[in-house]
Amino acid sequence: MSIKVTLIPGDGIGPEVSYAAQSVITASHAPIEWEVVEAGEACIAEYGTPLPEHVLETIRRNKVALKGPITTPVGKGFRSVNVALRKQLQLYANVRHLKNLPNVPSRYEGVDIVVVRENTEDLYAGIEHMVGCDAAESIKIITREASERIGRYAFELARQEGRKRVTIVHKANIMKLSDGLFLESVRSVAHDYPEIECEDRIVDAMCMNLVQTPEQFDVLVLPNLYGDIISDLVAGIVGGLGVAPGANIGEMGAVFEAAHGSAPQIAGKNLANPLAMILSGIEMLKYLGFTEEAKRVETGIEHVLRQRDYITADLGGKSGTKEMAAAIIKAMG
Ligand code: NAD
Repeated sequence: MSIKVTLIPGDGIGPEVSYAAQSVITASHAPIEWEVVEAGEACIAEYGTPLPEHVLETIRRNKVALKGPITTPVGKGFRSVNVALRKQLQLYANVRHLKNLPNVPSRYEGVDIVVVRENTEDLYAGIEHMVGCDAAESIKIITREASERIGRYAFELARQEGRKRVTIVHKANIMKLSDGLFLESVRSVAHDYPEIECEDRIVDAMCMNLVQTPEQFDVLVLPNLYGDIISDLVAGIVGGLGVAPGANIGEMGAVFEAAHGSAPQIAGKNLANPLAMILSGIEMLKYLGFTEEAKRVETGIEHVLRQRDYITADLGGKSGTKEMAAAIIKAMG
C-alpha cells in the first residue's frame, strides 16, 4: 500500500530542487503517492495568504510533507510561512543531521552531528512590543513541558541511532530562570537514558568548541534561538546550506525541508544544488520506515559525489540541478 505525502514545491529554486528530490525518491521504489500543493508567493494573489488553509489541511491529512523553501518578504506583509507551519502543526522538534560528505569542501573531517532544536517557544513565541517610542521588548518563553518534550526527543533519537552523547546548550549562567529551566528540564529526562552521556555547555563556549573541534560532538539539544544559530553554524562546518537537510517533527506529523532558502538570484537557471532537498527526502524515507529505499538514495549520492562528474557549481562542478539528480538516479542502480 502506498503512503500519501504532500509535496510543496515552494518559491525561487524550490520547484527545481523539490522536483529533483521527488524524482530521486520515486526512483528509490518507495511506495509514495505525491499530493502536490502550492504555498508561498504564488498563493498570495489568489488566496490573500502564502499559506492557505487547504495546504495545512493536506498536511494534517497526510501527516507527512516534503517542502521546498518559501520566500519571506522582509519588513512587510506576511510573517514567515515556515514559522506559521511549525506553529499550526505543532512541529516541536527541528532536527538536522549534519555530517561531512565525500568531496564536499569543508575545513573539517569526521563531523557527524545531529542538532535538535526546540521549535515552538523561546523568543520565537513572537511576543514583542514597543515601550514608548524608543524601546522595544521581546519576551522569551521557556516552559518545563516543551523543554522536557524536546529533551526526550533528543535522547530517544540518540538511543535509536546508537549515539553516545547529548550536549545541552544554554546560557543559564545569565538567564538563570528561563535557560535554567531548560537545562533542569532536559537534565531531568536524561536519567531515563543511563547509557547515553549527558553534558551541558554555555552557548558562547559551544560556538568556540564547535569551530575548534566539531568532531567531538554527537547530539546537541537547544532552545529555539540558539538552535537556529547553531544549526547554521554546524551546516557551515560540514560544507554549507547546500548540503544541510532538515526535518520539523511533531506528534501529529512531520515536514521535511532543506535548510537553505529560495535563493531567488539563481532561480529558474538549473543551477541550484538539489542535495539538501534530496537529503531531506532521505530523512523522510527513514521516518516512514523505508530504510532500504533511503540506503539506495544514499548510495547514489555517495557515488555521484565521489565521481565528481555531475555536481553543481557550489560543489566545484559544472552540472545542472536536473543532471545531478539524473546521475544520482542512475547510480542508485
Ligand atoms: P538562501 O539560502 O536562499 O541563499 C543564501 C545563499 O546560498 C545564496 O547565495 C544562494 O544562492 C545560495 N544557495 C542557497 N541554496 C542553494 C542551493 N540549493 N544551491 C546553490 N546555492 C544555494 O538564503 P537567503 O538569501 O537569506 O533567503 C532567500 C529567501 O528564502 C528569503 O525570502 C528567506 O526568508 C527564505 N528562506 C526560506 C527558508 C525556508 O523556506 N525554509 C529558509 C531560509 C530562508
